[in-house]
This record gives sequence, structure tokens and C-alpha cells, in this order.
Amino acid sequence: MTNTAKQFAKKTALIVVDVQNDFITGTMAVAGASDIIKPINEFAKRFELVVLTQDYHPPKHISFASTHDLPELGVLDAPYGRQVLWADHCVQGEWGVKLSDELAINHARLIIRKGCRADVDSYSAFIEADGTPTGLDGYLRQLGVEQVVVVGIATDFCVAWTAMDAARLGYECTVVTDLSAAIDVDGSYQAAAHQMNALGVRLVELKDI
Ligand SMILES: [Zn+2]
Repeated sequence: MTNTAKQFAKKTALIVVDVQNDFITGTMAVAGASDIIKPINEFAKRFELVVLTQDYHPPKHISFASTHDLPELGVLDAPYGRQVLWADHCVQGEWGVKLSDELAINHARLIIRKGCRADVDSYSAFIEADGTPTGLDGYLRQLGVEQVVVVGIATDFCVAWTAMDAARLGYECTVVTDLSAAIDVDGSYQAAAHQMNALGVRLVELKDI
């Protein structure tokens, strides 16, 4: 029995967040993102149940600075709250939206697409920014999942929001920090780590699993 099997005795799902071209070498390339893909492939072999997520925006999405003629990393007061504005990224039908060719997790059963509606963003794989559920919680519950492990891009945004919603929904949740890559703008990594800790999300390194 591996350590992982011991530690994750409860039924566990691995959630691999947004390993997509734009976040690796594209318009929103995150430092270190290309280095985590092969280790994620290896790690995923330990899990029977793997869910992938994919940021999946229509053109002129609300989260794009260009949509509002505002600077990137500015903040928009959206109907659902504070929306950080990004470079155009993960546009449906374009190269940048595709999952990386290096991602090799053929046994992943489900891909959750996020931010599909023009006027709502979704960092979380569970709940969109306006409170609409994605259905992932129901999927995992029907399969008896009690624990989730989250890895991917970016640690301080989509990984963190997914992990925090998992914790709020009652899952035991672990984020593997060195299988994730952070944007870390204006202290966003420390802030996200603090918020995750406050919700009981475990932040661990791969060697400690
Ligand atoms: Zn996005």
C-alpha cells in the first residue's frame, strides 16, 4: 500500500485545474506552469477518480480587460462582486483554451468547463461567481467522494477558489503546492494561502504525501 493510499483512505477525487495552453505559454503564462505538467501526470496515476477543469470563455468575456477598455489587473465592479480583469485568455475555439498536449491523464472521467457564459466568471470548479453550481458537487457526491486533492493553475485563483468551495461544501481538501503554479500578483498567493488555511484546506508538498 502506498502512502497515498493510506492517507487518502476515504474516497478521494483528484481535481486538475486549468492545465491549458494560455496559462502555460499563452496570453496568461504562469511562471513554472510548464514544470508541473509531467509531475501531475505521474501523481494522477495514484487516483482512480480524476476530474479536469477547463477555463472556457466566449469572446468579449466579462473577465477580459479588453472587453471594458480597462487595463489588465484592474478591477471591475460586476453584478456578482469584484472582478479582476485579465488579458484575453482561454477563448472558445482558440489554441489557448486547449488542455496542454503534455497533459496525459486518459483515465480522467469528467471535464468541468468554467466561465462559459459571457457575463459571469468562475474561478471555482464548483460554483460560478454568481452562485450558480457547476454540478461538480453532485457528481462527486453521487460517487461517494468525501475528500478532494486539488492541483494545477493558478494556485492563488482557480486552484484556491476550487479548494475553498470544496471545503465549504464539506469535503476534506488538500492542495499540493508544488503541483500548482501561482500568478502571485500584489500578494495574491499569501492572501489565498491564508484564506485556504482559514477554511481548513491543507497545503502540502508532494514529498509530504
Ligand atoms: Zn478565465
